[in-house]
Amino acid sequence: MKAIIAIVVLAAVGMAALFVMSSNTVLTVNPEVKIVGVTTPVTVKISNAHGVRRTAAYIEQGSVRFPLTELKTPAHRFFWRRHQASQTLTFDAGKNKAPNLKEGDARIVVEADSDDLAGHTDSTSFAVKVILAPPRVAPDDAQHYINQGGMELAVMTPGGSWSEAGVKVGKYTFRSFPLPGRPEQRFAMFAYPWDLAENVTPMVFARNLAGTEATGQFWFKLFPKKFRTRDFPIDDALMSKLVNQIDPGGTLAPGPDMLSRFLKINGEMRRRNNRQLADLRLKTEEKVLWNGPFLHWGKEESLFADVRNYLYKGKQVDQQVHLGFDLSDTANAPVHVANDGRVVWAADLGIYGNCVVVDHGYALQSIYGHMNRIDVKEGELVKKDQSLGVAGATGMAGGVHVHFSMQIDGVQVNPREWWDEHWIHDRIMSKLDPEAAKAKSESKAPTVTSQPRAKARGRRKR
Ligand SMILES: [Zn+2]
Repeated sequence: MKAIIAIVVLAAVGMAALFVMSSNTVLTVNPEVKIVGVTTPVTVKISNAHGVRRTAAYIEQGSVRFPLTELKTPAHRFFWRRHQASQTLTFDAGKNKAPNLKEGDARIVVEADSDDLAGHTDSTSFAVKVILAPPRVAPDDAQHYINQGGMELAVMTPGGSWSEAGVKVGKYTFRSFPLPGRPEQRFAMFAYPWDLAENVTPMVFARNLAGTEATGQFWFKLFPKKFRTRDFPIDDALMSKLVNQIDPGGTLAPGPDMLSRFLKINGEMRRRNNRQLADLRLKTEEKVLWNGPFLHWGKEESLFADVRNYLYKGKQVDQQVHLGFDLSDTANAPVHVANDGRVVWAADLGIYGNCVVVDHGYALQSIYGHMNRIDVKEGELVKKDQSLGVAGATGMAGGVHVHFSMQIDGVQVNPREWWDEHWIHDRIMSKLDPEAAKAKSESKAPTVTSQPRAKARGRRKR
């Protein structure tokens, strides 16, 4: 009898211990979800040392609860596991999964049961807004002539439920701004970037807060361009000069030898510096700051999107694309700003050396690299032809020259178009400010763009 009591007591103590030792689950939603549309993915990290035997998610609206997902696995009540890695649950919280969901407020609940004796249920819940009304977008009916590597402007009319609109060209997206004088319309200046194939169709788009997207095609004609390939021989003397100019302390691009340090600077640092330049796109004003054509000075030593094969001891060691023009100049000659604008960068920028970036409005910016001295400050307004400082050979420069390039919404483009008054009038100002452009062109004959290699695509709307 005593033995039986002892066994029962031991078992009870064991059960109690197992119960007390049972674990809890931590549920973390990442990334945060605030808006739910037709199909909105939700990802939850589930952490429990014993693992979980059930996970479930619901969306609740008023007193109604719609199930979204439920997963069960065989339970381990007595011989549970320890040190289980956290797991990730991803489910779809949109109207596709809950057809009776309505526009408005809702709450998402995620639950998990611990895989041990107690099987505690833990949960997390968060408020969301359901947005189901779709966006709409209508393109303009203008003819768009586009140079590969260059730019163009399109007007769009977004409608329905939308929060974001612009132009998409392959993997690139360009913001839109309100079209002056026509509040229901917007425009985007966009690039047909140099690294896209010739068969990409640019499109206007509008997107609602839930990420649902509408697109529209406009008429366009692309002029494909051939970009040059050039050999760029580099010897030990030039290599150590460049590496020591950019990283004298050996901390930015450490490596066992000069060549590996050079390749780090020419590759990783170049990409990082181009990313820093692209990020300046948000420092812009929503108005035209430029005035007439951009200034063109100096002799063209390298052209936009030249492909450079770096040759060292007779072997190709690297290949990079040069996104700008190298304009030769004499040491300590003034560097003139190409147009009116506001300085948004005036500091060292890795391979570009001492660098100035000027915003000309609507995310159009010009870049001046390798300067010996900078005489302007970030935030300063500058006038066309004003001196920004003096030319030099800082950064990745073998000799004195100005690296000049332009970017639209963070994507580098061929600046040549902006040196051409007719192009600016026909492709940009006539759409941005039709009245002013019309008045200006009344005295002169219209310019016609035609090139033999043109390819027409898209269809004319309306
Ligand atoms: Zn350059």
